[in-house]
Amino acid sequence: GTVLVTGELTPSMTAGIRRENIVGIVTQTGGRTSHSAILARALEIPAVLSVENVTALIADKEDVVVDGVEGVVLASPEAEQIAAYTRRRDEFLEERRALGRFIGVETLTADGKKLELAANIGSVKDALQAADCDAEGIGLFRTEFLYMDKAALPTEEEQFAAYQQAALIMKGKPVVIRTLDIGGDKELPCLGLEKEENPFLGWRAIRFCLARRDLFRVQLRALLRASAYGDIRIMLPLVTCVEELREARALLEEIKQELDAEGVKYNREIKLGIMIETPAAALIADLLAREADFFSIGTNDLTQYTMAVDRGNSKVAYLYSHYHPAVLRSVRHIIGCAGAEGIPVGMCGEAAADELLIPLLISFGLDEFSVSPTSVLAVRKAISLWSRQEADELCAQALALSTEAEVHALLKNARRF
Ligand code: PEP
Ligand code: MG
Repeated sequence: GTVLVTGELTPSMTAGIRRENIVGIVTQTGGRTSHSAILARALEIPAVLSVENVTALIADKEDVVVDGVEGVVLASPEAEQIAAYTRRRDEFLEERRALGRFIGVETLTADGKKLELAANIGSVKDALQAADCDAEGIGLFRTEFLYMDKAALPTEEEQFAAYQQAALIMKGKPVVIRTLDIGGDKELPCLGLEKEENPFLGWRAIRFCLARRDLFRVQLRALLRASAYGDIRIMLPLVTCVEELREARALLEEIKQELDAEGVKYNREIKLGIMIETPAAALIADLLAREADFFSIGTNDLTQYTMAVDRGNSKVAYLYSHYHPAVLRSVRHIIGCAGAEGIPVGMCGEAAADELLIPLLISFGLDEFSVSPTSVLAVRKAISLWSRQEADELCAQALALSTEAEVHALLKNARRF
């Protein structure tokens, strides 16, 4: 029954939280798509982030109400407030239970078009949760969590075991595993890297992996070996140019030959896709689509880089929105380019689970939604409420608007949940 009130919630702290002891999280810093927020969501713990000065305002052992839906925190609530919030919680839980009718059914729009609905995970344990929540695959396995909080880097065997288990748990369904996405707000203390002035614009993700091939090779070998046990696909983070994809593909081919020489089994046809999460990748999506096997749109970073807003900085959080016309145009463009080359396109940023945005994503022609396991059923329901034609009509109205606020208001008004 504890509410955790803290200045900053680091990904490693979140990873150590015991679900059964913590009923709410309140922090002073961190945005909706910070890694702590993503992890809290996966644990299904109500969380309110960016509450100024909260550690000074709330005392130890004080009663607290945490409303993660509206983003409200009440310290020492009155008896009526406790009663009202208890009712709200019961209603919320009842709605969650009612989603049970979406278990075991296909993900279909109101006019019967089948879409893919996968889950985002950060560990093998999460893969079990994804299977329990009836995800149709894994759309994003954030492998950096295998590397964090460790005194040493995970060995090829350790990584192989994790990827193989995820593949086996998903029983032949697609499992998209993202190569190491370190940097930004995800530090890897065991590497002892120098602090950078602008970590989000720095030596991170695919840039780091292509420079540190010793580490990258270990991960690619583990991924290829695990691909013998299921439909594993490899995805590169933070791509900004075609060369990064080519270099990664060349390295993958080299390792395939190595495995051939050793007589090790793997999937020769393994797919290599990329995240589209930088404005550069979005603008050259047509060129990338010719060489990538699939795209997945990372709106968490795409919004940050398109809007020039640090995704964890609460002072500028008002600008961080995937309803901004710039972000919407970018997403539409990316999906269009994938469609023109005939490659599948998914979305694994938090926007994929936003019920307000879902009609626009249907209209743009998104093939796959990848969301936190706890959001799978709600997204399946949201998709079922819109036909393509209705989604197209709403989308035309949204794209004619000039401001984020107008788009947000339109979508809120059209809400069907
Ligand atoms: C994204 O940027 O949208 C994404 C899915 O990756 P991450 O949140 O891990 O940066
Ligand atoms: Mg990202």
